[in-house]
Amino acid sequence: MQRVRWMFAGQLGSQFDDGGPVLLIEARSVFERAPMHRAKAHLLLSALRHRAQELGDRVEFHQVQTYGEVVEGRRDLQVVDPTSYSARRYVRRLGAEVLPSRGFVTSETDFAEWAASRGKGRLLLEDFYRWVRGRTGILMEGDAPAGGQWNYDHDNRQAPPKNAVTLGLPEPWWPVEDDIDAGVRDDLDRWQAEGTATFVGSDGPRRFAATETEARAALADFVESRLNDFGPFEDATLTGDWSMAHSLLSAPLNLGLLDPREVVDTVEAEYRAGRAPLSSVEGFVRQIAGWRDYMWHLYWYLGEAYSTSHNALAATTPLPPEFTALDAEAITANCLSHSIDGLRQHGWAHHIQRLMVIGNWALQRGYDPKQLNDWFVNMFVDGTPWVMPANVIGMSQHADGGIVATKPYASGGAYISKMSDYCGPCRYNPKVRLGPDACPFTAGYWAFLDRTEPVLRTNFRMAQPLAGLRRLSDRAAVVAQEREREGL
Ligand code: FAD
Ligand code: SF4
Repeated sequence: MQRVRWMFAGQLGSQFDDGGPVLLIEARSVFERAPMHRAKAHLLLSALRHRAQELGDRVEFHQVQTYGEVVEGRRDLQVVDPTSYSARRYVRRLGAEVLPSRGFVTSETDFAEWAASRGKGRLLLEDFYRWVRGRTGILMEGDAPAGGQWNYDHDNRQAPPKNAVTLGLPEPWWPVEDDIDAGVRDDLDRWQAEGTATFVGSDGPRRFAATETEARAALADFVESRLNDFGPFEDATLTGDWSMAHSLLSAPLNLGLLDPREVVDTVEAEYRAGRAPLSSVEGFVRQIAGWRDYMWHLYWYLGEAYSTSHNALAATTPLPPEFTALDAEAITANCLSHSIDGLRQHGWAHHIQRLMVIGNWALQRGYDPKQLNDWFVNMFVDGTPWVMPANVIGMSQHADGGIVATKPYASGGAYISKMSDYCGPCRYNPKVRLGPDACPFTAGYWAFLDRTEPVLRTNFRMAQPLAGLRRLSDRAAVVAQEREREGL
């Protein structure tokens, strides 16, 4: 019996295609489950429809309400192991032939071998990353890391240039929309008008690659115009520069349009040819071969219950309408308002906005971690069920009590002030923690420590911040002020 390769939305590139017949299904129910960013819905549909067009006679393409209408009862299906627990259960129940997963630098077997080699020791990204480098030869000179160091953090993480409005880099590559995009937009309008789907945020023009050709163009553009500045300004933010020196490749990577190994090899070749500094190249390779692979493997390693069974900091505040409706105008804190507005416009925000602004805000205010996790999945063009739990439940919200990160990523306004130009025009002052000018991040930081002190006091990495809290002369007043603070 000839098998038909059912490709899911995260498997749209040629790395998932072995040349046989292909099944693609566009199921409307996916867009009816929960409010979704319109740019995300657009990108998913555009990528799927473009892939169907590319495959021509080789594809069976269905536009239906549910997957079940097409696949229930079929015995000829073959899949590359999909990227979520629910999809894995489903394809097994159908009796599909399941091939090992693809789309990452390391395989699930590689990770299992590495995790087993740690014994009872703690799993750390840094150890995993070095192991991947050694095993694959990426940025290696024999047994040693290229340049003699594993890590170039001291060259990276610079504050943005003083008084600059942008980094002064060329405008990133953007896709040119076509008839498929126009059709997607019409369908989204119709679904919204019919009331079957709820979309938030703005849709257009499309900013992220929806085909392999577009993804390669985006990669080439990043290498040409932004890679050299990636390292130094990895953590910096400027109001006038929404993409900074970031690659904007997470969406095409997570759609399966780019092979991460190809991305890493392309970037390494720039270093080998003397066209890009090692600090930037290593910083970027660490993101893909380190963090991205690590988050993928942790999704399986930590288990399905990880995202629902942890709430170490007893965070139960529901997400406010400013988040769910992406209502930036209703937010007074300039850094948060700007980050949410960027998300509203593009369905994307860069890492420091996700971690140190949006995530930090949610952590300080004790937003429900599962609700926040699902919000991130639905609002970000690159959001997937696998990428979010370790990033949100673990790294950003510390809801797992320290499995992924050794301490909460909480910080006051001073850090945001150092790494951005947000504070100048803000009505708050990052140095002030009490009174009308009190920065909600600075005061919120102390209020957060006050609330979580009973849990965090056994964490040796929190000893210093908690000692600072105990020395705070106006602790009670700051905590009371933040409890009563209304709005964002
Ligand atoms: P760059 O800054 O150019 O980085 C290069 C690539 O590294 C990214 O494209 C991405 O593939 C990879 N990468 C870097 N860090 C991570 C990480 N922690 N986890 C996974 N991949 C990583 N990444 C997603 O792909 N999807 C998400 O939905 C997502 N949500 C996040 C939520 C939170 C709270 C945090 C703290 C991080 C999240 N990240 C997510 C990681 C990271 O912020 C994004 O990958 C990055 O901002 C995407 O923009 P870029 O492609 O320009 O990345
Ligand atoms: Fe954000 Fe505080 Fe700076 Fe305002 S003062 S931009 S709220 S860190």
